[in-house]
Amino acid sequence: MAVKSDLYDIEITLQTLKYATRQLIAELDMDRVVFHGICTIADFSTSRNLSLFLLDEESRNALLAGAMVNGNYIHDSLSLPVKNTPFEEVMKSKLAGNYHCQRKINYPVPTFNIFSKSRVCTCLPLIGTSNKIIGFINYEHLPKTKVPKNHTEIITVVTTLIATAIENARLFELATIDGLTGLYVRRYFDIRLREEITRLSRIDSNLALIIFDIDHFKYINDTYGHQQGDIILKELSKILRTTVRKDIDIPCRYGGEELALILPGTDLEGAIVLGERIRKRCEQNTFSSISDKDISVTISGGIATMNSKSVIGKDEFFRIADKKLYEAKQAGRNRIRF
Ligand code: GH3
Ligand code: MG
Ligand code: MG
Repeated sequence: MAVKSDLYDIEITLQTLKYATRQLIAELDMDRVVFHGICTIADFSTSRNLSLFLLDEESRNALLAGAMVNGNYIHDSLSLPVKNTPFEEVMKSKLAGNYHCQRKINYPVPTFNIFSKSRVCTCLPLIGTSNKIIGFINYEHLPKTKVPKNHTEIITVVTTLIATAIENARLFELATIDGLTGLYVRRYFDIRLREEITRLSRIDSNLALIIFDIDHFKYINDTYGHQQGDIILKELSKILRTTVRKDIDIPCRYGGEELALILPGTDLEGAIVLGERIRKRCEQNTFSSISDKDISVTISGGIATMNSKSVIGKDEFFRIADKKLYEAKQAGRNRIRF
């Protein structure tokens, strides 16, 4: 009977491991990698309180990337020094260590301080390529809780998997995200636009493209300096990123000060509403100024749309939006044309 239940346990363990591996390997988004990583360690440690920190190369601090409190996944920001802390010890030994949990923080943070009745905080190193520590996962448990032997070994395997997935997500970000604006780069824009058009020929839907261009940006650069120009570009891009639907719309830096939005499932009406919303937000925004002068900035935009019955090629689609942008400029700027 015992043998049968052991086999059953192994079967469940392998299924969980298989599922977690698929989730982690298929994921390129950092937030989702962290989420799956924490959930997987929660499964194998049976802990409901966990935290994942990533090592910041520049500050040498550990930055919180995600946490679980009583089984609920939470976002919080916390930056902790590594020096003279359990993190440093784990970093040097490259082995998991048991510590106490810091008081006052509701997710586990390892500390050398001994608190009576304190729960144990196991700190696992996340070891990336070249044997480099890239972060830590902490899980909290009662001093006497015993994690089954095979689960301890699986946790070691899973931490390696998580570290690999984190490095993959970082490389993907480096290859697809523009450093100044945080928007997708031109190459990614081309790939995604082609993909969305292909998808449109298969399913009954709409697709919109908006191209924005900052008005008189050369004048802004010439008058206030390039550094100020960069600040405006950065803040405008933030307006774009925070106005669109996360994980659906695709905000890109097409060229220098030309920004583009790929909007899957969006018709002309929807694109006009969004385009106008972004144009107004830019017009009303107070941009950070490096001098004592307030700087107002406006943008113009051109829209192209298509649906499954009117599919055209990517270059022609872009040309239409670009022509509309040109018309917006000709008509006096600070407007959207479609
Ligand atoms: P228009 O209203 O017709 O668009 O006028 P404009 O001056 O914005 O048009 P133009 O295309 O002539 O100028 C674009 C300027 O954008 C020129 C270039 O120096 C500036 N620019 C492009 N990329 C960057 C960047 O990354 N940072 C800064 N500061 N300026 C940039
Ligand atoms: Mg331009
Ligand atoms: Mg311009």
